[in-house]
Formats: sequence, C-alpha cells, structure tokens
Amino acid sequence: MQISSCVSHDVGRESSLSVDLQRLWSRLMDMAEIGEIPGNGCRRLALSQDDLDGRELFLAWCENRGFRTSFDKVGNLFVRRPGTQADAMPVAVGSHLDTQPNGGRFDGVLGVLAGFEVLETLEDRGIETKAPIDVVVWTNEEGTRFAPAMMGSGVHTGALSLPTVLATSDAEGVTVSSELAKHGYSQGLPPGCQRIGRYLELHIEQGPILEEKDKVIGSVSGGQAIRWYDLSILGEETHAGPSSMASRRDPVPALSRVIDTVFNLTRMDDAARATIGRIQTHPGSVNVVPGQISASIDLRHPDDAMLSRMHDRLLQGAREVGAAFTLLDVSVECTWHSPAVAFDVDMGRVVRLSAERRGYPAMEMVSGAGHDAFNLARIVPTTMIFVPCRDGISHNEREYAAPEHCAAGANVLLDAVLHYACSTDDPR
Ligand SMILES: [Zn+2]
Repeated sequence: MQISSCVSHDVGRESSLSVDLQRLWSRLMDMAEIGEIPGNGCRRLALSQDDLDGRELFLAWCENRGFRTSFDKVGNLFVRRPGTQADAMPVAVGSHLDTQPNGGRFDGVLGVLAGFEVLETLEDRGIETKAPIDVVVWTNEEGTRFAPAMMGSGVHTGALSLPTVLATSDAEGVTVSSELAKHGYSQGLPPGCQRIGRYLELHIEQGPILEEKDKVIGSVSGGQAIRWYDLSILGEETHAGPSSMASRRDPVPALSRVIDTVFNLTRMDDAARATIGRIQTHPGSVNVVPGQISASIDLRHPDDAMLSRMHDRLLQGAREVGAAFTLLDVSVECTWHSPAVAFDVDMGRVVRLSAERRGYPAMEMVSGAGHDAFNLARIVPTTMIFVPCRDGISHNEREYAAPEHCAAGANVLLDAVLHYACSTDDPR
C-alpha cells in the first residue's frame, strides 16, 4: 500500500478523500440491533449488559482493523491510530454508545462510528498523520440510569470526582462501582491520564433548526448552561375517603404551584427552557393521598447570568410555596450545574470551511442539548459538528438521520481531524 503523509492538509480540497457511506451506515444499523426495541429504537442503559454488548461489538471492529484499544477506571474506551510524531498531542473524536430507555439509533452512536470511519478511511488510503487520532467512547453520557449525565467525560476532565461517581447507584441500588468491576473496568487506567490535544464530536442536532433552515452541517459555537434539580414535597399518606380536604397533608396541590413557578421562568426570556421530566408520587396508589412527591427539574439558557436569575427565582418560588403550605415540607435542591460553553473559534472556522468546500449548506448554532464535548471544552480546544435529524426528534425510537447526512458529517469530521492531526502546533 502507498503510504502518504499529510504534511499540509488543505481542508476539504481533497474531494477524493471521503468516508465510505455504505460502511458507516451498515455499522450504524448493526449497532442498532444491540438493545433493539420496537419502533426502530434502542435501549442500552449505561453499563447494562446491552451497553456492554454494544461496546464489545465496537471494540471487535476496532481490533479486527488492527487498532490498539484501552480503557480507564470509569469505563471510557480509547481506540488509537498512531501518528508519526511520538510526542504530538492526540486529536480525539468521540461520543457515547449508551442510550435513553426509549432511545434512537443515532444519538451518540453516530459520533463514535463516524470517528471509527475516519480511522478506517485514513487506513484504507494509507495516509499517515503526525498526531495520533483517538476515538473515545465516553461512559454514561445520558445520565438516565446513573445521574449525572456526561459522567465518563466529567471524570476524565476533573468536573466530577471518581469516588463520588463510583458510589452513585441506580434506582435498584446497583452502584457504578459494582457494574464497572463486573465488566473488568476497575482494572483500567487512572481517568484523565489519556492525553487529549483537541476534541471533536459529531452528533445529530436533536432539534429542528437544521432541517427547518435546509442546512446539512451545523457548526456548533457552544452550548447552553444547564441546571438540574430534585424537587421533594413531603406530606402524609392517608386514605382518600375519610379525612377532610382541610386536614390533609397532600403534596399534590403544592406540586401544581411549583409546576406553575417552573414554567413561568420561561417567560423571562425566549431562549429559556424548563422541563419536568419525572414526577413520582409515593406510594402511587389510586385511593391514597400521597405522602411524598419527588420530581426532576431541568433549566437551560445560553447565558450563565440569565440561568442564574432563573435559578434564584425558582428557589424563591419554592420558598413561597413552602410558606403557603405550612403542613408540607417543600425542598428544591440543585444537583448538577453545567455552565455555558464556548467552543474553539478556529475549529469552528475549519468545520465551516470543510462544509463550504464540499458543498454542504452549513450554519453556526448553539447546542440545546448537553454533550461530552461540554466537559472537554473546559480543558482543550473543542468543537462539535451537527447533522439534521428528522423532525428534530431525538431521545425517541423514531429518531432518524439520513445516510447522506451521516456521511456529510463524517466527511467534515474527517477534514477537520486531518487538518489538526497534520499540523504540529500544540494547542496548549
Ligand atoms: Zn448524545
């Protein structure tokens, strides 16, 4: 095989160098068979057997292609294509393979498999890069089985502490630690010791903007600030019939007031988002006044200061509800905060240049969803590439990204990776 070195890669100009659409698509569909659920969806909850099976399939593909693989103690996987300069900082691409309970076939998976497709394309063509290229699978991006989200990248970057994460348990009381040990990850490398010079993540948009504007590539300039909360309202269980309405300690009327407070926050600004995704009553019986309600609250805004004002108003509102319902105990606790993120300006420019030269309509945008790239952006130059998903639907079995859009995103990823893996400048 002819070996060529990409001393000065001209972004997007080598139009003959493109990913293999059919190979990428068939791998996406093969991965979708693991944890398959009706309606073309996937259910691979973090560190479940299905998640492990997906990881094993991915690692088998990588090892069959001759790439060296490794993992760390929080289960992050690293696949390496070496560079020619031993001391060059690796260019990393990645995303996640875990899904929501009723997840789709593309969220996270596209970024991982497109990263692998980049490695294979370079391998097929015998193109050497100066810097190594790593494909990373981050553990538990979704945060649905074990909170918080973006756990593996959070530990890698120091945003989360390993001991805290290991002690985290799911709804059944199973800990992250025991799942990692069961699958051999506790023997892994110390998190964070795998060096990363730059990070790129391809992802479906998970929103409707690209489709509405008839664009194929989103060059992501940054991400929204996010805060998660646990709401708890304590009352007292009692029979639905005998006790008078006035004497009850029923948390549900107070919940209704908190819900109003949460959604009124979005009147503060058009870009504000508020979601209550989980509400649980205890004991959850038709003829029992619940003794306790717990719920999740998710607030987002592109501007840290505005999210901070929403936060203050939420806590104030919760105090007012508590004061109005003196027989109840109302508490709102912030469990996670991800500040607004600004991605690397030069990497965004390279992404848009690649899209322009390949003839893909592109636009700059902010990410409405959280991603592992948010954590990476706090330690290394980082960017994200979005491709459209049909009707903007994600975290849903119906999630769909067209093969040509997946390939377009992978081609832009290929150009950007090649651009940085061929230059020798150390970003730090
Ligand atoms: Zn994702």
